Amino acid sequence: MRRVQIVTTVVVVTLLLISTFFVYRKQEPVFETKPGEEIESDEAKVIMSVMGNQTEKEELGRATWKFLHTMMARYPETPTETERKSLKDFMMLFSTLYPCGECATHFNKMITTYPPQTSSRVAASQWLCAMHNNVNERLKKPVFDCSGIEAKYPCGCDEEKSSNE
Ligand SMILES: Cc1cc2nc3c(=O)[nH]c(=O)nc-3n(C[C@H](O)[C@H](O)[C@H](O)COP(=O)(O)OP(=O)(O)OC[C@H]3O[C@@H](n4cnc5c(N)ncnc54)[C@H](O)[C@@H]3O)c2cc1C
Repeated sequence: MRRVQIVTTVVVVTLLLISTFFVYRKQEPVFETKPGEEIESDEAKVIMSVMGNQTEKEELGRATWKFLHTMMARYPETPTETERKSLKDFMMLFSTLYPCGECATHFNKMITTYPPQTSSRVAASQWLCAMHNNVNERLKKPVFDCSGIEAKYPCGCDEEKSSNE
């Protein structure tokens, strides 16, 4: 009788240990890139396939450029090292995840050659303007005069200040 009790206890404890192990293993998030790990551009892989629908591609492009230029217009004038790293990592990841696969392939190659400039708002805005012009040239579109970038994408900073008052 005592032997049966011991065996039962051992079995129950073993099952508990096994189930605890699986519960914790399930909760553990799996990161392909560990937080803080540098993303090497030559390791980057474009994820999405070719976007066949030209209208969708153009709409996506216009919306994305607006987002990216506005992001640069609001990027800090004197960023911290962490902010600089965030912008660089963001652009590298963006270039692998952009939903138009063929666009992403070109953009990824381009920003590997011309890495994101993150030292200031002006540097970042001018860099993106040059990248956009690079795409424009490839698509035979007019080149934009980058000296007018601040006027084209205002940071909205004045409005922000007055709304906080
Ligand atoms: C990262 C990325 C890569 C792309 N790659 C491709 C591709 O490989 N093939 C493809 O077919 N399409 C690609 N596109 C889409 C393409 O760039 C255009 O967005 C799309 O063709 C619509 O063009 P658009 O003439 O309306 O003007 P857009 O190029 O979308 O520009 C929108 C507006 O931004 C302003 N603008 C123009 N140039 C600049 C500049 N240099 N700086 C700031 N503002 C500017 C102009 O006012 C313009 O009307 C890409 C888009 C993005 C965001």
